[in-house]
Amino acid sequence: MVEQKDDVMRISLARDVDESYDLVFGEGLFPKIASDLKETPIGSRYAIVTDSNVGELFAKELEDALMSEGLQVQTFSFEAGEKSKTVDSCMKVIGEMSGSGYGRDSAILALGGGVVGDMAGFMAVIFNRGIPYIQIPTTVLAQADSSIGGKTGVDTEFGKNLVGAFKQPWRVYLDVAVLKNLPDREYRAGLAETIKHGIIFDGNFFRYLQENIESVLGKIPESLIRIAKNNCKIKGAVVESDPHEVGLRKILNYGHTAGHAVELLSNYELSHGEAISIGMMVAGRIANKLGHFSKEDLDAQEGLLIAAGFPTKIPNAISNEDIIKVTATDKKAVGGKAMYSLPVSIGKMHDFDGKYATYVDDEVVMAALQSSR
Ligand code: NAD
Repeated sequence: MVEQKDDVMRISLARDVDESYDLVFGEGLFPKIASDLKETPIGSRYAIVTDSNVGELFAKELEDALMSEGLQVQTFSFEAGEKSKTVDSCMKVIGEMSGSGYGRDSAILALGGGVVGDMAGFMAVIFNRGIPYIQIPTTVLAQADSSIGGKTGVDTEFGKNLVGAFKQPWRVYLDVAVLKNLPDREYRAGLAETIKHGIIFDGNFFRYLQENIESVLGKIPESLIRIAKNNCKIKGAVVESDPHEVGLRKILNYGHTAGHAVELLSNYELSHGEAISIGMMVAGRIANKLGHFSKEDLDAQEGLLIAAGFPTKIPNAISNEDIIKVTATDKKAVGGKAMYSLPVSIGKMHDFDGKYATYVDDEVVMAALQSSR
């Protein structure tokens, strides 16, 4: 009820919203997506939003599945790659959707890696002030991380992921069949985040990866499903307890402080996975030097990263001083000081009084960087 007191009127909009959603795992899920949408429609027409690579590989198959259930569907795609993750690319797709008669009653199917998921989710936030969307992640990284948690957005000239909003998907379909075409570099990027999940949250999962690294690298479907389920359980648990990244969710940044810096300083010659691997070794060493992470755990971490084919040493061309400089200007730095999430042991992170990240003196960081050469 609108209340009024003198010259102030109050619109009461307290809301109790349930944003829960299901993650569906399997191999060859497109027919299931179509039959689920036939049974429980979330729009009267569906826009598959994808990129040029994934669209070429899978859009027709998904379109056919939806059409065979009598659903209206059309594909909208943009050039693959991070450089497309802009407001302009989103507006172009939105213009095409609008021109094809898509309106408020439509829903988006985000078919692709993290770039597609972030962009399609953002379009679902702004198109007609919000329409439902489904995530169909097609990279290990997207299946492990970006498709869960509702972070959507685009890059701008002022920063990566600078513009965006939280919007949870209606459902996430994790189909491991699509991973067979994934380029090795992309597959490994997701694997680095997978190993990270074991270290930050689940020691049993870490040991599973140690014992089954061959079938993981061989993309054996049972391993891929096990990985997808574990990754989602970990990311889901973290997101559930801290949806807006004020505390626990920061543990997902393990390895990313120094990792982002070496990725940038290598001019992106190091892939994200390779950079995060090096970043985890730096952070692990910082934790070890501060007395939190044992030498055995550090060796186990390095052993698994090497077995999975990752570099663990900082390339000679990148100086310690430059890494420290870049980490201080990282967007997650606080007051110009780099923040590190640090492990206590494999499977457990330090809580730092609920902040799950801490400032570390430059001398300690410098020593850890030096030992990572
Ligand atoms: P990406 O979406 O660019 O995909 C990598 C490459 O693989 C692209 O060229 C793509 O076309 C191709 N590809 C995707 N699936 C394929 C398949 N099945 N077969 C063959 N080729 C395929 O990159 P990504 O690593 O998946 O995601 C990176 C993005 O995710 C970044 O923009 C990052 O900011 C974002 N991200 C978001 C979150 C979040 O919480 N929202 C978390 C982590 C990362």
